[in-house]
Amino acid sequence: MTRYIFIVGGVMSGVGKGVACASLGKILLSKGFAVSAVKIDPYINVDAGTMNPLEHGEIFVTDDGTESDQDLGNYERFLGRSFSKVNYMTTGQVYDSVIKRERNLEYKGKCVEVVPHIPQEVISRIKVTGKQDKANFVLIEIGGTVGEYQNMLFLEAARMMQASNQNQVFFVMVSYLPIPSNIGEQKTKPTQTAVRTLNAAGIQPDMIIARSELPVDKIRKQKISLSCNVPVDYVISAPDVKSIYEIPVNFEKEDVGKKILEKFGLKDKKQDMQEWRALVQKIHSLKKTVKIGIVGKYFKIGDFTLMDSYLSVIEAIKHAAWQENYKPEITWLAAEKYEKNPKETAELKEFDGIIIPGGFGNRGSEGKIKAIEFCRKQKIPFFGLCLGLQLAVIEFARNVAGIKKANSAEFTTKGDLVIDVLPDQKVLLKEKKYGGTMRLGAYQCTLMNGSKAYQAYKRSEISERHRHRYEIQNEYKERLEKKGMVFSGINKERDLIEIGELPNHPFFLGTQFHPELKSRPLEPHPLFVEFMRAATR
Ligand code: GLN
Repeated sequence: MTRYIFIVGGVMSGVGKGVACASLGKILLSKGFAVSAVKIDPYINVDAGTMNPLEHGEIFVTDDGTESDQDLGNYERFLGRSFSKVNYMTTGQVYDSVIKRERNLEYKGKCVEVVPHIPQEVISRIKVTGKQDKANFVLIEIGGTVGEYQNMLFLEAARMMQASNQNQVFFVMVSYLPIPSNIGEQKTKPTQTAVRTLNAAGIQPDMIIARSELPVDKIRKQKISLSCNVPVDYVISAPDVKSIYEIPVNFEKEDVGKKILEKFGLKDKKQDMQEWRALVQKIHSLKKTVKIGIVGKYFKIGDFTLMDSYLSVIEAIKHAAWQENYKPEITWLAAEKYEKNPKETAELKEFDGIIIPGGFGNRGSEGKIKAIEFCRKQKIPFFGLCLGLQLAVIEFARNVAGIKKANSAEFTTKGDLVIDVLPDQKVLLKEKKYGGTMRLGAYQCTLMNGSKAYQAYKRSEISERHRHRYEIQNEYKERLEKKGMVFSGINKERDLIEIGELPNHPFFLGTQFHPELKSRPLEPHPLFVEFMRAATR
């Protein structure tokens, strides 16, 4: 029998529902259960692929090429497995299938209505996930916050699911207890109100994960318990932590796993998170620091700097640094400043390694090229991810191979387009077919013996995830190679360049794919590890 655990958010967004969901999954997995997860995003977009990262945060790509939400990345990192399109749902997808069915007469002449047909579609999708993943537990994270119009139909689906499967459904509310600085006290009222709102949707939470800056004490737990109808030991204190990977360990201090199993009438099993616990301990004990700079453009919103757009890159840096026994210190460097004043690239000297992550469009690209030039000349370890590789090739073409007007077709139609749009993409762009049409998901790549890439992976066949429309042009390959660039990874099927590197440099390597997407805390990505080794040297 599959059981369903819904995770909903109260009070405000950004309190860590995704990580809470991944952590519950990790605990159940460690107790020997098969666990799957679904991220529900209430937006109309069919997927995250058409959204600006500043708007959405990172677009996480799965092996099957789904452009999904960053929470899927959290699920993959915590559960140590890959997910696919069945693990991600949006309002757009749900409506799209209901409308298609209606057009196919699949509702047999019935009036198709928002209720019950939309929630029914949601339920059927959740069940498909459970079946496909042969899961004992499916964790369903409903995006947004309780009380929004946006996620109402998903809450209705959850309610309906419980109404017809009383003992198979469990509700967790991840709430937030603010501590206003002028009062200095942890306040429970917003949580009480959020639970009332959830009650109005016909749902009673079974457990409340009370997020706050500080631990939630007994008095406040009792207060929440009394006003929200949740047994006091099902109010879980979830204070801020240094590393998100501590969260499953912290939850287990409150026997969260056992409590969930009890509600389902299941016997508790011993949990095995030894390796995970060891990592958490290690993170706390690290003394030496490695300084990594990320040169990008998706991190400023008004007066605030957000790092959501590069989440997997940050996590991959951490995983590799920890393995090498270093504490990473990550700094955001806005590419545009190097455009305005190239001399500012001198600050890159302060870093042990520089990463240029993925990106789209012209803004900041010349600044990034300036940063790459500095790293190449000053022998600062450099790692380029997707756009990072493309720009490294442009820099090398211009400044080393004498192709002065080297550029990318993404930025201009003039000059020597060493980076051009993939042939199959041309038609798509012309017809404005942007959604879900990039070169997406996992593709094979063959590595060159003796290259840095080979040294990292220690094998010649690899598979990595992609998300791009543009590509290094083979007609320039020889000229670049003659000047010393080594194209050490090739997709043989289409003869596409996937990796470029410079041998006479401590570490100068770029990938057309996104290695960060496959890095896991207990299995850091080999290229990030190799980069980190150079950086810590
Ligand atoms: N904009 C580039 C392309 O589409 C790079 C994409 C990326 O960095 N993911 O090819």
